[in-house]
Amino acid sequence: MTAPGPISLNTITVKAWTLPQVVEACARHGITAISPWRDVLQAAGLTAAAQQIRDAGLKVTGLCRGGMFPAAEAAGRAAAIEDNRRAIAEAHAIGADCLVVLGGGLPKGSKDLPGAREMMREGLHAILPDARAAGVTLALEPLHPMTCADRSVLSTLSQALDLCDELGAGVGVAVDVYHVWWDPDLARQMARARGRIAGFHVCDWKVPTTDLVFDRGMPGEGVIDIPAIRAMAEASGWAGGVEVEILSNRWWAEDPEAVMAAVKASHVAC
Ligand code: ZN
Repeated sequence: MTAPGPISLNTITVKAWTLPQVVEACARHGITAISPWRDVLQAAGLTAAAQQIRDAGLKVTGLCRGGMFPAAEAAGRAAAIEDNRRAIAEAHAIGADCLVVLGGGLPKGSKDLPGAREMMREGLHAILPDARAAGVTLALEPLHPMTCADRSVLSTLSQALDLCDELGAGVGVAVDVYHVWWDPDLARQMARARGRIAGFHVCDWKVPTTDLVFDRGMPGEGVIDIPAIRAMAEASGWAGGVEVEILSNRWWAEDPEAVMAAVKASHVAC
């Protein structure tokens, strides 16, 4: 087993910090890559944020996040597409390797899951020309099926790769171990993803898990064999930074400096 490559710090892991604080802390801790969320960029101002990231020499492994296409009304779907076009422009401005794209959940009050998946498909087709023109890869991130109703009708790697096959150039997948570790078809789908893995996100599945979204563990705190999944990604040609993305009410309650230390210590479990 090879050692994990460099850490990329997803800004949500240290949610209390502004972008300048994240950039400063990365320099201090020797972390060479980040993956910011859009609200953090917007708070810093896009031009200033892009400048800070460039000046610090940080690689940007992804921008979180686009997608979320389904909506009950046509106006809502159009607004989502416009927002994704802005996200693509932001990803381009900061030199991000990819824009992480989530499927979005069911429209409010709807039980039409196939219909919501079709809205996601239409949204992806609508923004693909913009992404190609900007040179920004759309990284489709399937989320654990427990979030299907409210966050992601895109639930499996197989489903994401089917969309990649359909959409063609400019689209890949973001593999987040939290969302795919349970999948009995994982090894086969990771092999199928050869050349298309645009992002690799790590955290851990705690037992018990007390929140569907905000109880992720630091790598090593749970039951996911992260090195085994990383090896599958590397065998499929992925060679980017291991993106540490911890959505956790417990870790968010800690001093971000302590979280940084834990992130660095957790690297051996990746
Ligand atoms: Zn993720």
